[in-house]
Amino acid sequence: MSATPHEPGFRDSVDVMFNRAAALMDMPPGMAEKIRVANSTYTVRFGVKLRGEIMTFTGYRSVHSEHAEPVKGGIRYSMDVNQEEVEALAALMTYKCALVEVPFGGSKGGLCIDPSEWSEDELERITRRFAYELIKRDLIHPAQNVPAPDMGTGAREMAWIADAYKRIKSDDINARACVTGKPRHLGGIAGRVEATGRGVQYALREYFRHPGDVAKSGLSGSLDGKRVVVQGLGNVGYHAAKFLEEEDGCRIVGIIERDGAITSDAGLNVEAVKHYVIDNGGVEGFEGATFTTDGASVLEYDCDILIPAALESTVNVGNAARIKAPLIIEAANGPVTAKADEILREKGTVIIPDMYANAGGVTVSYFEWVKNLSHIRFGRLQRRQEEAYHNLLVDEIEAMTGKRFSPGKRAKILEGADELTLVRSGLDDTMRLAYQSMTEVWNNRAGEGVDLRTAAFLISIRRVAETYKSLGL
Ligand code: NAD
Repeated sequence: MSATPHEPGFRDSVDVMFNRAAALMDMPPGMAEKIRVANSTYTVRFGVKLRGEIMTFTGYRSVHSEHAEPVKGGIRYSMDVNQEEVEALAALMTYKCALVEVPFGGSKGGLCIDPSEWSEDELERITRRFAYELIKRDLIHPAQNVPAPDMGTGAREMAWIADAYKRIKSDDINARACVTGKPRHLGGIAGRVEATGRGVQYALREYFRHPGDVAKSGLSGSLDGKRVVVQGLGNVGYHAAKFLEEEDGCRIVGIIERDGAITSDAGLNVEAVKHYVIDNGGVEGFEGATFTTDGASVLEYDCDILIPAALESTVNVGNAARIKAPLIIEAANGPVTAKADEILREKGTVIIPDMYANAGGVTVSYFEWVKNLSHIRFGRLQRRQEEAYHNLLVDEIEAMTGKRFSPGKRAKILEGADELTLVRSGLDDTMRLAYQSMTEVWNNRAGEGVDLRTAAFLISIRRVAETYKSLGL
Protein backbone atom coordinates (compact mmCIF):
# COMPACT_ATOMS: atom_id res chain seq x y z
CA MET A 1 0.00 0.00 0.00
CA SER A 2 1.39 3.41 -0.84
CA ALA A 3 0.67 6.74 0.79
CA THR A 4 -2.08 8.87 -0.73
CA PRO A 5 -1.06 11.21 -3.59
CA HIS A 6 -1.17 14.15 -1.13
CA GLU A 7 1.53 12.65 1.02
CA PRO A 8 5.27 12.25 0.69
CA GLY A 9 6.46 8.77 -0.29
CA PHE A 10 7.99 6.33 2.18
CA ARG A 11 11.58 7.63 1.98
CA ASP A 12 10.47 11.26 2.23
CA SER A 13 8.23 10.30 5.13
CA VAL A 14 11.21 8.84 7.02
CA ASP A 15 13.19 11.98 6.15
CA VAL A 16 10.45 14.26 7.52
CA MET A 17 10.58 12.39 10.83
CA PHE A 18 14.40 12.44 10.79
CA ASN A 19 14.44 16.19 10.10
CA ARG A 20 12.07 16.88 12.99
CA ALA A 21 14.59 15.32 15.37
CA ALA A 22 17.68 16.73 13.64
CA ALA A 23 16.24 20.26 14.03
CA LEU A 24 16.37 19.79 17.80
CA MET A 25 20.04 18.78 17.73
CA ASP A 26 23.26 20.69 17.72
CA MET A 27 25.35 19.02 15.02
CA PRO A 28 28.27 20.28 12.90
CA PRO A 29 27.15 21.78 9.56
CA GLY A 30 26.38 19.06 7.04
CA MET A 31 26.34 16.21 9.55
CA ALA A 32 22.56 15.75 9.45
CA GLU A 33 22.64 15.57 5.64
CA LYS A 34 25.50 13.04 5.72
CA ILE A 35 23.57 10.80 8.09
CA ARG A 36 20.22 11.19 6.31
CA VAL A 37 21.16 10.20 2.76
CA ALA A 38 21.76 6.64 1.54
CA ASN A 39 25.45 6.00 0.76
CA SER A 40 24.69 3.87 -2.30
CA THR A 41 21.98 1.79 -3.93
CA TYR A 42 22.82 -0.96 -6.34
CA THR A 43 20.22 -1.98 -8.91
CA VAL A 44 20.58 -5.29 -10.67
CA ARG A 45 18.62 -6.76 -13.55
CA PHE A 46 19.31 -10.40 -14.18
CA GLY A 47 17.84 -13.14 -16.30
CA VAL A 48 16.84 -16.64 -15.30
CA LYS A 49 15.66 -19.24 -17.80
CA LEU A 50 12.28 -20.42 -16.52
CA ARG A 51 9.24 -22.04 -18.12
CA GLY A 52 10.98 -22.11 -21.51
CA GLU A 53 11.88 -18.41 -21.64
CA ILE A 54 14.32 -15.94 -20.12
CA MET A 55 12.66 -13.99 -17.32
CA THR A 56 14.26 -10.72 -16.23
CA PHE A 57 14.10 -9.71 -12.57
CA THR A 58 14.97 -6.42 -10.91
CA GLY A 59 16.55 -6.32 -7.47
CA TYR A 60 18.16 -3.76 -5.18
CA ARG A 61 20.60 -3.59 -2.29
CA SER A 62 20.88 -0.22 -0.63
CA VAL A 63 23.58 0.70 1.87
CA HIS A 64 22.45 3.60 3.98
CA SER A 65 25.30 4.03 6.43
CA GLU A 66 28.66 2.33 6.89
CA HIS A 67 29.53 4.09 10.15
CA ALA A 68 29.54 0.52 11.54
CA GLU A 69 30.21 -2.64 9.53
CA PRO A 70 28.93 -5.02 8.48
CA VAL A 71 25.80 -3.25 7.36
CA LYS A 72 22.63 -5.18 8.02
CA GLY A 73 19.12 -5.40 6.67
CA GLY A 74 16.58 -7.82 5.30
CA ILE A 75 15.80 -8.84 1.74
CA ARG A 76 12.17 -8.36 0.75
CA TYR A 77 10.30 -10.16 -2.02
CA SER A 78 7.35 -8.13 -3.23
CA MET A 79 6.05 -6.60 -6.45
CA ASP A 80 6.04 -3.21 -4.70
CA VAL A 81 9.80 -3.22 -4.12
CA ASN A 82 11.49 -0.13 -5.59
CA GLN A 83 14.56 2.02 -4.99
CA GLU A 84 12.77 4.52 -2.78
CA GLU A 85 11.39 1.74 -0.60
CA VAL A 86 14.72 -0.03 -0.07
CA GLU A 87 16.42 3.28 0.69
CA ALA A 88 13.78 4.15 3.29
CA LEU A 89 14.08 0.70 4.83
CA ALA A 90 17.90 0.88 4.81
CA ALA A 91 17.76 4.23 6.60
CA LEU A 92 15.45 2.77 9.24
CA MET A 93 17.97 -0.06 9.72
CA THR A 94 20.73 2.45 10.50
CA TYR A 95 18.60 4.22 13.12
CA LYS A 96 17.26 0.93 14.52
CA CYS A 97 20.70 -0.63 15.01
CA ALA A 98 22.02 2.54 16.66
CA LEU A 99 18.99 2.72 18.95
CA VAL A 100 19.25 -0.85 20.23
CA GLU A 101 23.06 -0.76 20.28
CA VAL A 102 23.60 -3.45 17.69
CA PRO A 103 26.97 -2.67 16.06
CA PHE A 104 25.83 -2.61 12.43
CA GLY A 105 25.25 0.01 9.77
CA GLY A 106 21.99 0.07 7.83
CA SER A 107 21.19 -1.72 4.59
CA LYS A 108 18.20 -3.29 2.86
CA GLY A 109 17.50 -5.28 -0.24
CA GLY A 110 14.55 -6.27 -2.31
CA LEU A 111 13.50 -8.20 -5.37
CA CYS A 112 10.46 -7.28 -7.49
CA ILE A 113 8.73 -10.62 -7.44
CA ASP A 114 5.49 -12.14 -6.24
CA PRO A 115 6.73 -15.32 -4.50
CA SER A 116 3.29 -16.91 -4.74
CA GLU A 117 3.60 -17.01 -8.54
CA TRP A 118 6.64 -19.27 -8.53
CA SER A 119 7.28 -22.85 -7.47
CA GLU A 120 9.83 -23.61 -4.77
CA ASP A 121 12.34 -24.83 -7.37
CA GLU A 122 11.91 -21.67 -9.42
CA LEU A 123 12.25 -19.46 -6.36
CA GLU A 124 15.45 -21.24 -5.44
CA ARG A 125 16.96 -20.63 -8.86
CA ILE A 126 15.92 -16.96 -8.81
CA THR A 127 17.22 -16.47 -5.25
CA ARG A 128 20.56 -18.13 -5.97
CA ARG A 129 21.03 -15.96 -9.06
CA PHE A 130 20.12 -12.78 -7.15
CA ALA A 131 22.49 -13.82 -4.34
CA TYR A 132 25.31 -14.39 -6.86
CA GLU A 133 24.85 -10.87 -8.24
CA LEU A 134 25.12 -9.41 -4.73
CA ILE A 135 27.94 -11.71 -3.53
CA LYS A 136 30.23 -10.84 -6.41
CA ARG A 137 29.96 -7.17 -5.43
CA ASP A 138 30.48 -7.87 -1.70
CA LEU A 139 26.88 -6.81 -1.05
CA ILE A 140 26.56 -10.11 0.77
CA HIS A 141 29.62 -10.67 2.95
CA PRO A 142 30.10 -11.66 6.63
CA ALA A 143 32.29 -8.61 7.33
CA GLN A 144 30.57 -6.11 5.05
CA ASN A 145 26.91 -6.75 4.36
CA VAL A 146 24.70 -9.31 6.08
CA PRO A 147 21.09 -9.74 4.87
CA ALA A 148 18.22 -11.34 6.79
CA PRO A 149 14.59 -12.26 6.05
CA ASP A 150 11.93 -9.63 5.49
CA MET A 151 8.50 -9.61 3.88
CA GLY A 152 8.14 -12.54 1.50
CA THR A 153 11.37 -14.26 2.57
CA GLY A 154 12.28 -16.56 5.44
CA ALA A 155 14.74 -19.20 6.63
CA ARG A 156 14.41 -21.10 3.34
CA GLU A 157 15.65 -18.20 1.21
CA MET A 158 18.43 -17.45 3.73
CA ALA A 159 19.60 -21.07 3.47
CA TRP A 160 19.85 -20.76 -0.33
CA ILE A 161 21.76 -17.48 0.02
CA ALA A 162 24.17 -18.96 2.60
CA ASP A 163 24.79 -21.93 0.34
CA ALA A 164 25.34 -19.72 -2.71
CA TYR A 165 27.92 -17.73 -0.74
CA LYS A 166 29.70 -20.85 0.50
CA ARG A 167 29.98 -22.21 -3.05
CA ILE A 168 31.55 -18.99 -4.33
CA LYS A 169 33.79 -18.33 -1.29
CA SER A 170 34.56 -21.87 -0.21
CA ASP A 171 37.69 -20.79 1.72
CA ASP A 172 35.82 -18.33 3.96
CA ILE A 173 35.65 -19.98 7.37
CA ASN A 174 33.03 -17.41 8.43
CA ALA A 175 30.81 -18.06 5.43
CA ARG A 176 27.78 -18.86 7.57
CA ALA A 177 27.85 -15.35 9.00
CA CYS A 178 27.09 -13.90 5.53
CA VAL A 179 23.37 -13.99 6.26
CA THR A 180 21.15 -14.39 9.33
CA GLY A 181 17.74 -15.92 9.84
CA LYS A 182 19.01 -19.29 8.59
CA PRO A 183 17.52 -22.61 9.64
CA ARG A 184 19.03 -23.99 12.87
CA HIS A 185 20.88 -26.84 11.16
CA LEU A 186 22.68 -24.37 8.89
CA GLY A 187 23.99 -22.10 11.64
CA GLY A 188 20.74 -20.38 12.56
CA ILE A 189 19.97 -19.52 16.16
CA ALA A 190 17.16 -20.61 18.45
CA GLY A 191 14.46 -17.97 18.63
CA ARG A 192 15.27 -16.09 15.41
CA VAL A 193 12.04 -16.95 13.59
CA GLU A 194 9.90 -15.57 16.42
CA ALA A 195 12.35 -12.76 17.32
CA THR A 196 10.64 -9.74 15.79
CA GLY A 197 7.22 -10.69 17.18
CA ARG A 198 8.81 -11.54 20.52
CA GLY A 199 10.48 -8.12 20.48
CA VAL A 200 7.08 -6.46 19.93
CA GLN A 201 5.80 -8.33 23.00
CA TYR A 202 8.83 -7.29 25.09
CA ALA A 203 8.45 -3.69 23.90
CA LEU A 204 4.82 -3.60 25.02
CA ARG A 205 5.69 -5.22 28.35
CA GLU A 206 8.33 -2.56 29.00
CA TYR A 207 5.94 0.22 28.01
CA PHE A 208 3.40 -1.10 30.51
CA ARG A 209 6.10 -1.11 33.21
CA HIS A 210 6.00 2.70 32.95
CA PRO A 211 2.59 3.76 34.30
CA GLY A 212 3.29 7.43 33.55
CA ASP A 213 3.86 6.60 29.90
CA VAL A 214 0.80 4.34 29.80
CA ALA A 215 -1.29 7.20 31.19
CA LYS A 216 -0.24 9.41 28.26
CA SER A 217 -2.21 7.12 25.97
CA GLY A 218 -5.21 7.19 28.29
CA LEU A 219 -4.77 3.50 29.07
CA SER A 220 -4.05 2.04 32.49
CA GLY A 221 -3.13 -1.21 34.17
CA SER A 222 -1.28 -4.03 32.47
CA LEU A 223 -1.50 -5.82 29.12
CA ASP A 224 -4.00 -8.25 30.60
CA GLY A 225 -7.38 -7.87 28.91
CA LYS A 226 -6.25 -5.26 26.41
CA ARG A 227 -8.12 -5.37 23.08
CA VAL A 228 -5.70 -5.74 20.17
CA VAL A 229 -6.06 -5.45 16.40
CA VAL A 230 -3.24 -6.80 14.23
CA GLN A 231 -2.70 -6.21 10.53
CA GLY A 232 -0.74 -8.97 8.78
CA LEU A 233 -0.55 -12.48 10.21
CA GLY A 234 2.87 -13.18 8.74
CA ASN A 235 6.08 -13.79 10.63
CA VAL A 236 5.95 -10.66 12.75
CA GLY A 237 2.21 -10.21 13.23
CA TYR A 238 1.52 -13.86 13.97
CA HIS A 239 4.19 -14.20 16.64
CA ALA A 240 3.41 -10.86 18.27
CA ALA A 241 -0.34 -11.58 18.42
CA LYS A 242 0.16 -15.18 19.56
CA PHE A 243 2.51 -14.28 22.43
CA LEU A 244 0.33 -11.36 23.56
CA GLU A 245 -2.75 -13.60 23.55
CA GLU A 246 -1.19 -16.69 25.12
CA GLU A 247 1.24 -15.12 27.59
CA ASP A 248 -0.06 -11.65 28.45
CA GLY A 249 -3.82 -12.11 28.43
CA CYS A 250 -4.51 -9.75 25.53
CA ARG A 251 -7.72 -10.22 23.57
CA ILE A 252 -7.11 -10.21 19.80
CA VAL A 253 -10.33 -8.64 18.56
CA GLY A 254 -9.33 -8.08 14.93
CA ILE A 255 -7.01 -9.63 12.35
CA ILE A 256 -6.49 -8.01 8.97
CA GLU A 257 -5.08 -10.01 6.07
CA ARG A 258 -4.80 -9.58 2.30
CA ASP A 259 -8.35 -10.77 1.56
CA GLY A 260 -10.07 -8.73 4.27
CA ALA A 261 -10.41 -8.80 8.03
CA ILE A 262 -12.16 -10.72 10.79
CA THR A 263 -13.32 -9.33 14.10
CA SER A 264 -14.64 -10.88 17.29
CA ASP A 265 -15.13 -9.01 20.55
CA ALA A 266 -14.87 -12.32 22.40
CA GLY A 267 -11.33 -12.66 21.04
CA LEU A 268 -9.77 -14.64 18.20
CA ASN A 269 -7.57 -17.69 18.71
CA VAL A 270 -4.45 -16.62 16.82
CA GLU A 271 -3.11 -20.15 16.35
CA ALA A 272 -6.44 -21.30 14.88
CA VAL A 273 -6.63 -18.28 12.56
CA LYS A 274 -3.05 -18.84 11.41
CA HIS A 275 -3.79 -22.46 10.51
CA TYR A 276 -6.94 -21.35 8.74
CA VAL A 277 -4.99 -18.79 6.67
CA ILE A 278 -2.38 -21.40 5.72
CA ASP A 279 -5.10 -23.84 4.61
CA ASN A 280 -7.43 -21.35 2.92
CA GLY A 281 -5.19 -18.51 1.76
CA GLY A 282 -7.06 -15.87 3.76
CA VAL A 283 -9.27 -15.14 6.75
CA GLU A 284 -12.62 -15.22 4.93
CA GLY A 285 -14.86 -17.97 6.30
CA PHE A 286 -13.13 -18.31 9.67
CA GLU A 287 -15.84 -19.55 11.99
CA GLY A 288 -17.09 -17.48 14.93
CA ALA A 289 -15.90 -14.15 13.57
CA THR A 290 -17.34 -11.36 11.43
CA PHE A 291 -15.67 -10.98 8.04
CA THR A 292 -15.34 -7.86 5.93
CA THR A 293 -13.63 -7.52 2.55
CA ASP A 294 -12.69 -3.96 3.55
CA GLY A 295 -9.71 -5.01 5.65
CA ALA A 296 -8.39 -1.46 6.06
CA SER A 297 -11.61 -0.43 7.84
CA VAL A 298 -10.63 -2.69 10.75
CA LEU A 299 -7.60 -0.48 11.40
CA GLU A 300 -10.27 1.88 12.73
CA TYR A 301 -11.84 -0.77 14.98
CA ASP A 302 -12.46 0.02 18.64
CA CYS A 303 -9.40 -1.41 20.43
CA ASP A 304 -6.67 -0.50 22.91
CA ILE A 305 -3.64 -1.46 20.86
CA LEU A 306 -3.24 -1.42 17.08
CA ILE A 307 -0.38 -3.49 15.66
CA PRO A 308 0.24 -2.80 11.97
CA ALA A 309 2.53 -5.72 11.03
CA ALA A 310 2.18 -5.94 7.26
CA LEU A 311 3.51 -3.11 5.15
CA GLU A 312 4.21 0.61 5.04
CA SER A 313 1.78 3.58 4.81
CA THR A 314 -1.30 1.69 5.98
CA VAL A 315 -2.12 4.47 8.43
CA ASN A 316 -2.14 7.63 6.32
CA VAL A 317 -3.98 10.96 5.92
CA GLY A 318 -6.93 9.00 4.60
CA ASN A 319 -7.68 7.20 7.85
CA ALA A 320 -5.48 8.64 10.65
CA ALA A 321 -8.21 10.83 12.12
CA ARG A 322 -10.53 7.84 12.44
CA ILE A 323 -8.03 5.51 14.19
CA LYS A 324 -9.52 4.75 17.60
CA ALA A 325 -6.61 2.88 19.19
CA PRO A 326 -4.90 5.13 21.75
CA LEU A 327 -1.72 3.09 21.39
CA ILE A 328 -0.09 2.00 18.12
CA ILE A 329 2.97 -0.21 18.04
CA GLU A 330 4.64 -0.21 14.64
CA ALA A 331 5.60 -3.85 14.14
CA ALA A 332 5.96 -3.23 10.39
CA ASN A 333 8.44 -0.73 9.00
CA GLY A 334 6.90 2.65 8.20
CA PRO A 335 3.21 1.74 8.66
CA VAL A 336 2.34 5.31 9.71
CA THR A 337 3.09 8.08 7.20
CA ALA A 338 4.61 11.37 8.35
CA LYS A 339 1.30 13.19 7.84
CA ALA A 340 -0.68 10.55 9.71
CA ASP A 341 1.91 10.77 12.45
CA GLU A 342 1.15 14.50 12.80
CA ILE A 343 -2.60 13.89 12.97
CA LEU A 344 -2.17 11.14 15.55
CA ARG A 345 0.22 13.20 17.66
CA GLU A 346 -2.38 15.96 17.82
CA LYS A 347 -5.00 13.43 18.90
CA GLY A 348 -2.70 12.25 21.68
CA THR A 349 -2.22 8.75 20.25
CA VAL A 350 0.98 7.19 21.55
CA ILE A 351 3.06 5.54 18.83
CA ILE A 352 5.81 3.09 19.73
CA PRO A 353 7.96 3.61 16.65
CA ASP A 354 9.10 0.95 14.18
CA MET A 355 12.81 1.50 14.68
CA TYR A 356 12.34 0.31 18.25
CA ALA A 357 9.24 -1.89 18.05
CA ASN A 358 10.53 -4.31 15.41
CA ALA A 359 14.18 -4.28 16.45
CA GLY A 360 13.89 -7.80 17.88
CA GLY A 361 14.73 -9.30 14.50
CA VAL A 362 18.01 -7.49 14.02
CA THR A 363 18.91 -7.99 17.68
CA VAL A 364 18.65 -11.77 17.43
CA SER A 365 20.28 -11.63 13.99
CA TYR A 366 23.21 -9.99 15.76
CA PHE A 367 23.33 -12.90 18.21
CA GLU A 368 23.25 -15.33 15.27
CA TRP A 369 26.09 -13.51 13.53
CA VAL A 370 28.18 -13.58 16.73
CA LYS A 371 27.40 -17.29 17.11
CA ASN A 372 28.51 -17.96 13.51
CA LEU A 373 31.76 -16.07 14.02
CA SER A 374 32.48 -17.88 17.28
CA HIS A 375 31.54 -21.26 15.77
CA ILE A 376 29.88 -22.43 18.95
CA ARG A 377 26.32 -22.60 20.21
CA PHE A 378 25.50 -20.25 23.10
CA GLY A 379 25.43 -22.04 26.46
CA ARG A 380 27.38 -25.06 25.21
CA LEU A 381 30.34 -24.55 27.52
CA GLN A 382 28.72 -23.40 30.74
CA ARG A 383 25.25 -24.98 30.89
CA ARG A 384 26.09 -28.22 32.71
CA GLN A 385 28.61 -26.49 34.96
CA GLU A 386 25.85 -24.04 35.98
CA GLU A 387 23.48 -26.91 36.68
CA ALA A 388 26.06 -28.64 38.90
CA TYR A 389 26.65 -25.40 40.79
CA HIS A 390 22.90 -24.76 41.25
CA ASN A 391 22.48 -28.35 42.43
CA LEU A 392 25.13 -27.85 45.09
CA LEU A 393 23.50 -24.62 46.22
CA VAL A 394 20.02 -26.12 46.44
CA ASP A 395 21.32 -29.16 48.36
CA GLU A 396 23.08 -26.85 50.85
CA ILE A 397 19.98 -24.65 51.33
CA GLU A 398 17.81 -27.73 51.91
CA ALA A 399 20.36 -29.18 54.37
CA MET A 400 20.62 -25.87 56.27
CA THR A 401 16.87 -25.18 56.45
CA GLY A 402 15.66 -28.76 56.75
CA LYS A 403 13.03 -27.90 54.13
CA ARG A 404 12.74 -29.12 50.56
CA PHE A 405 11.97 -27.17 47.39
CA SER A 406 8.94 -28.42 45.48
CA PRO A 407 10.06 -30.68 42.58
CA GLY A 408 8.87 -28.08 40.05
CA LYS A 409 10.79 -25.20 41.69
CA ARG A 410 13.85 -27.38 42.15
CA ALA A 411 13.92 -28.35 38.49
CA LYS A 412 13.53 -24.70 37.46
CA ILE A 413 16.35 -23.50 39.71
CA LEU A 414 18.69 -26.28 38.60
CA GLU A 415 18.18 -25.72 34.88
CA GLY A 416 21.20 -24.15 33.16
CA ALA A 417 20.50 -21.67 30.40
CA ASP A 418 20.24 -23.14 26.89
CA GLU A 419 20.55 -21.13 23.69
CA LEU A 420 16.87 -20.14 23.50
CA THR A 421 16.84 -18.94 27.11
CA LEU A 422 19.97 -16.86 26.50
CA VAL A 423 18.58 -15.41 23.27
CA ARG A 424 15.33 -14.40 24.97
CA SER A 425 17.23 -12.93 27.89
CA GLY A 426 19.46 -10.91 25.55
CA LEU A 427 16.47 -9.73 23.54
CA ASP A 428 14.49 -8.76 26.63
CA ASP A 429 17.46 -6.84 28.02
CA THR A 430 17.96 -5.03 24.71
CA MET A 431 14.29 -4.04 24.43
CA ARG A 432 14.12 -2.87 28.04
CA LEU A 433 17.28 -0.75 27.89
CA ALA A 434 16.36 0.83 24.56
CA TYR A 435 12.89 1.74 25.86
CA GLN A 436 14.38 3.20 29.03
CA SER A 437 16.70 5.43 27.00
CA MET A 438 13.76 6.55 24.84
CA THR A 439 11.38 7.30 27.68
CA GLU A 440 13.98 9.39 29.46
CA VAL A 441 14.31 11.66 26.43
CA TRP A 442 10.54 11.59 25.80
CA ASN A 443 9.76 12.75 29.31
CA ASN A 444 12.66 15.18 29.69
CA ARG A 445 12.03 16.94 26.37
CA ALA A 446 8.23 16.69 26.14
CA GLY A 447 8.11 20.51 26.29
CA GLU A 448 9.88 20.66 22.92
CA GLY A 449 7.24 18.46 21.33
CA VAL A 450 9.36 15.31 21.60
CA ASP A 451 7.33 12.12 21.31
CA LEU A 452 8.63 8.54 21.43
CA ARG A 453 9.57 8.51 17.74
CA THR A 454 11.48 11.78 17.96
CA ALA A 455 13.17 10.51 21.11
CA ALA A 456 14.25 7.37 19.25
CA PHE A 457 15.61 9.47 16.38
CA LEU A 458 17.42 11.84 18.78
CA ILE A 459 19.23 8.91 20.40
CA SER A 460 20.16 7.10 17.22
CA ILE A 461 21.21 10.19 15.26
CA ARG A 462 23.42 11.25 18.17
CA ARG A 463 25.09 7.83 18.26
CA VAL A 464 25.71 7.77 14.51
CA ALA A 465 26.99 11.37 14.58
CA GLU A 466 29.37 10.52 17.44
CA THR A 467 30.79 7.62 15.44
CA TYR A 468 31.28 9.79 12.36
CA LYS A 469 32.97 12.46 14.50
CA SER A 470 35.33 9.86 16.00
CA LEU A 471 36.14 8.66 12.50
CA GLY A 472 37.23 12.19 11.59
CA LEU A 473 34.23 13.40 9.61
P1 NAD B 1 5.56 -11.70 6.03
O1 NAD B 1 5.66 -11.75 4.57
O2 NAD B 1 5.93 -12.88 6.84
O3 NAD B 1 4.10 -11.28 6.49
C1 NAD B 1 3.38 -10.21 5.97
C2 NAD B 1 1.92 -10.51 6.19
O4 NAD B 1 1.14 -9.38 5.83
C3 NAD B 1 1.44 -11.69 5.36
O5 NAD B 1 0.66 -12.55 6.17
C4 NAD B 1 0.61 -11.02 4.27
O6 NAD B 1 -0.42 -11.86 3.77
C5 NAD B 1 0.06 -9.82 5.01
N1 NAD B 1 -0.30 -8.72 4.12
C6 NAD B 1 0.27 -8.32 2.98
N2 NAD B 1 -0.37 -7.29 2.45
C7 NAD B 1 -1.40 -7.02 3.29
C8 NAD B 1 -2.43 -6.07 3.29
N3 NAD B 1 -2.56 -5.17 2.32
N4 NAD B 1 -3.32 -6.07 4.32
C9 NAD B 1 -3.20 -6.98 5.30
N5 NAD B 1 -2.25 -7.92 5.35
C10 NAD B 1 -1.36 -7.94 4.35
O7 NAD B 1 6.44 -10.41 6.46
P2 NAD B 1 7.07 -10.11 7.87
O8 NAD B 1 8.45 -10.62 7.87
O9 NAD B 1 6.12 -10.46 8.94
O10 NAD B 1 7.19 -8.52 7.78
C11 NAD B 1 6.10 -7.65 8.07
C12 NAD B 1 6.63 -6.27 8.37
O11 NAD B 1 7.57 -6.35 9.45
C13 NAD B 1 7.39 -5.61 7.22
O12 NAD B 1 7.18 -4.21 7.28
C14 NAD B 1 8.84 -5.90 7.55
O13 NAD B 1 9.73 -4.96 6.98
C15 NAD B 1 8.80 -5.78 9.07
N6 NAD B 1 9.90 -6.45 9.76
C16 NAD B 1 10.10 -7.79 9.61
C17 NAD B 1 11.14 -8.39 10.31
C18 NAD B 1 11.37 -9.89 10.27
O14 NAD B 1 12.21 -10.37 11.06
N7 NAD B 1 10.68 -10.65 9.46
C19 NAD B 1 11.99 -7.63 11.11
C20 NAD B 1 11.75 -6.26 11.23
C21 NAD B 1 10.69 -5.68 10.55
